[in-house]
Amino acid sequence: MAGTLLNKKIGIIGGGVTGVITAIFLAKSGCSVTIFEKKELLSETSSRTTKLLHGGIRYLESFQIKEVKNGLNDRYWWLKNFPNNTKKIEILIPFKSFFSTQFLKYFIGIKLYQLLSFKKSLGKGRLISKTTKSNIFTNTNYENFLTFFDGAMDDKSLSKKLKDELKMLEVDIYENYEICNFNVAGQIDKFNFDQIVLAAGPWTKILLEKNNIESDKEIDFIKGSHLVINKSIETGFMFDGICKTRYIFALPYGKKTLLGTTEKRVDNPENPKIESEEKDYLINSYNSFFNDRITQEDVISSFSGVRPLIKSLDKDFHRSTRDFYLQKNKKLIAIFGGKWTTAPSTAKKIVTIIENEEVS
Ligand SMILES: Cc1cc2nc3c(=O)[nH]c(=O)nc-3n(C[C@H](O)[C@H](O)[C@H](O)COP(=O)(O)OP(=O)(O)OC[C@H]3O[C@@H](n4cnc5c(N)ncnc54)[C@H](O)[C@@H]3O)c2cc1C
Repeated sequence: MAGTLLNKKIGIIGGGVTGVITAIFLAKSGCSVTIFEKKELLSETSSRTTKLLHGGIRYLESFQIKEVKNGLNDRYWWLKNFPNNTKKIEILIPFKSFFSTQFLKYFIGIKLYQLLSFKKSLGKGRLISKTTKSNIFTNTNYENFLTFFDGAMDDKSLSKKLKDELKMLEVDIYENYEICNFNVAGQIDKFNFDQIVLAAGPWTKILLEKNNIESDKEIDFIKGSHLVINKSIETGFMFDGICKTRYIFALPYGKKTLLGTTEKRVDNPENPKIESEEKDYLINSYNSFFNDRITQEDVISSFSGVRPLIKSLDKDFHRSTRDFYLQKNKKLIAIFGGKWTTAPSTAKKIVTIIENEEVS
């Protein structure tokens, strides 16, 4: 890849994980890259994730096979390239009875997840039954488990590593620098570029419209909140929240537990904060699953982020695609959607688009 786009000047608006990984890939291809970030690099949505590097096993329920496979490929990329900041994690899914559609659904889902990861598999899951379980303090309704493996990251140390890499690659970084004006001719404020990449996460559509550029996609802003609980757990769990329409993760988070997420439609992506009903929902879901009940007192902190989901025809946003979409207008490429995990795929696609432009 190195050196194929020598001397192209690229301006990136937005220094979340998508902008940062795109900058790294483009700089490695020989471009001269500048990032403009309104706050600090990796401080917005990218700092408020569930910390999973994953294909998204739950998206198999809505048959997002291509997206899941893509995520599994990228999961491998992160684990291979950042072994000190990522790890594999075993996640347990409970089921009540072997003679239930629930068991069959999880069994097939986990097998398919494993098959889709193919040579990049992180290992086979296992069955933990009532008789073999030990040290798993879940309530008696949940005593059998199927397990699978996914990736997890320490996003603080990983973010530091990514920032070091930007510096090493001599990417120009403007932090606390809000961009208001840009156009499809390659201009960002007073700077001129051969290509602009708009990687503003939930702000992409808003910024396009402010600059009178029509957006190809409608966006749903879906807030997701997490709690950090003052308890340690050894493995991850994925179980039904009390609403039964989505799963909750309880994951090891240093010596604490990370519990999330909620999903709530909001009007805009500014300053998302957890609401008391979300807190109650997460605490009640935890208590319906684990033996050792928690109260508000056990909550050390919380954080929320906004997913910019591409609107689908399906009214139920839980089933919306987690895939990314690239909009191209002359010298501007705008990025919609995606996950932390799939930032490398997004970046690769952008390098290919710019390379093809070079040839034509
Ligand atoms: C609750 C929740 C849980 C999640 N969990 C996971 C998970 O476990 N695994 C996973 O892979 N993904 C997860 N995701 C998805 C992941 O967080 C996002 O896909 C990813 O962080 C998006 O990165 P981004 O760079 O596109 O957006 P952001 O991180 O939001 O970056 C966009 C940047 O653009 C900047 N910006 C905006 N306007 C301007 C402007 N005018 N000028 C300059 N800069 C500007 C912002 O300040 C921001 O830093 C989760 C998301 C949420 C909300």
